[in-house]
Amino acid sequence: MYQDLSSALNARGVTLVAVSKTQPPERLLELYRLGQRHFAENRVQELLEKHAQLPEDIHWHLIGHLQTNKVKFIASFVHLIHSVDSLRLLVEINKQAALAGRVIDCLLQFHIAQEETKFGLDLPEARLLLQSETYRSLQHVRLCGVMGMASFSEDTRQVQAEFEALRQVFDQLKQEFFATAPHFKEISMGMSGDWEIAVAAGSTMVRIGSLLFGARS
Ligand SMILES: *Cc1c(COP(=O)(O)O)cnc(C)c1O
Repeated sequence: MYQDLSSALNARGVTLVAVSKTQPPERLLELYRLGQRHFAENRVQELLEKHAQLPEDIHWHLIGHLQTNKVKFIASFVHLIHSVDSLRLLVEINKQAALAGRVIDCLLQFHIAQEETKFGLDLPEARLLLQSETYRSLQHVRLCGVMGMASFSEDTRQVQAEFEALRQVFDQLKQEFFATAPHFKEISMGMSGDWEIAVAAGSTMVRIGSLLFGARS
């Protein structure tokens, strides 16, 4: 399973992020031994525990909602924060990154699904953030792209339309704000049930859990 998925994505230049939430460290090590280096957690506490137990060269991604008071715990090592949905959070990440002597890579999370959820920006909100003096003064965060989750739906066309909408958001922001920034290149979209649709719609990074590890208990 892992080898097939990993080489299919690799051939298309798509990064496979293994979503290891709820999985014990041994299960991560199995994939690590097969060459997997990108792992993602959605809770800070679990991320900290696994980071402490597992090899140093793992790239740790945070994909869940991040509270500002928890940024300080992960600032020294986190590889990419996918879930930035406010200027306030970005300011805190910048502050903790400065203290850690780093620049932290982040993605802006967008709300693309039909479902009501509290998290995620829309395009006008993202524009306001990117135009603000505050954002422009930040020296220790680097925005590398966008992230979104499609509706949990059997309706393939709906899911496809949502991924295409995120792709358009990316293209728009790239053109307006990041035309000369080569690092702004990631579209994090696609999970176990919809990664093929996401890749067809232009995903550069898929976040896959249950397909790799089996269903979560
Ligand atoms: C859990 C989770 C995933 C992975 O879900 P699977 O369906 O198990 O692949 C991807 N992205 C986010 C934000 C998640 O919370």
